[in-house]
Amino acid sequence: MIEKTIELLKKNKLRATPVRKELLQLFLSSDIALSNQDIEEQMSDVDRVTLYRTLKSFQEKGIIHRAFDGTDVARYASCSDHCDAHAHHDEHLHFHCSKCDNTFCVDEIPIPKLEMPNGFKALKTNIVVDGICEKCS
Ligand SMILES: [Zn+2]
Ligand SMILES: [Zn+2]
Ligand SMILES: [Zn+2]
Repeated sequence: MIEKTIELLKKNKLRATPVRKELLQLFLSSDIALSNQDIEEQMSDVDRVTLYRTLKSFQEKGIIHRAFDGTDVARYASCSDHCDAHAHHDEHLHFHCSKCDNTFCVDEIPIPKLEMPNGFKALKTNIVVDGICEKCS
């Protein structure tokens, strides 16, 4: 895990600082999307400014993506290998469990191509499914 972390940082030309290593490892080992609060609780001492800056640079590099789940809370999850600094390719739906409030990336279900009305050009489609997750049912 630590090797993958360092390799990923290197690939993205990010210096392997302790905060970056810890944050990335947290994302790679988590099967749910993480909110700022989740991250702050699980990280050892880190100041918020550094944390937000790191989250932002990870997003720009295509390491993590915003897991849009229809709630007011911003959550992030690690990206697939196809994402890079030029474009994200996280075309999967997000499942939000209304019982445990966790959000999951679901890769198994392809996002359907939706026909837009004339003059409208779709750039990104977010699909959110609300329900009860495996653990809660
Ligand atoms: Zn991505
Ligand atoms: Zn649940
Ligand atoms: Zn996702």
